[in-house]
Amino acid sequence: MSNELKNFQKLMDAQRQWSDNTFDSGNFSATRSIPLSHHLQKESRELTEATVNCLQDPTEENFCRLTEEIADCQLLLLDIAAHMGFGVDIIISACRSKHEINKSRKWGKPDANGVVEHIR
Ligand SMILES: [Mg+2]
Repeated sequence: MSNELKNFQKLMDAQRQWSDNTFDSGNFSATRSIPLSHHLQKESRELTEATVNCLQDPTEENFCRLTEEIADCQLLLLDIAAHMGFGVDIIISACRSKHEINKSRKWGKPDANGVVEHIR
């Protein structure tokens, strides 16, 4: 494992440990992934709002808020993966694999929010 991945794994381990100690009385449990994914949906909406604010009003404060929302989402993703027993090596490998799949897909037209999905 590269030093970058080791550092990423340390961050994941620290997040999981803090999360368990703070929200789950130190009990490591895969079922914690469910409320964590609900929390991610809330944070995802905050990320959308922060992105819009940043583009409409590109102040240092709004850029800072945006980086915080990205971090909120990333930390929850790491926490979910950790609670499901995945290490960063598995997650990075899955991201690389999915990236290759996405590159090979055909893509449709954007919806009202600009979201583009692959053609099924
Ligand atoms: Mg947030």
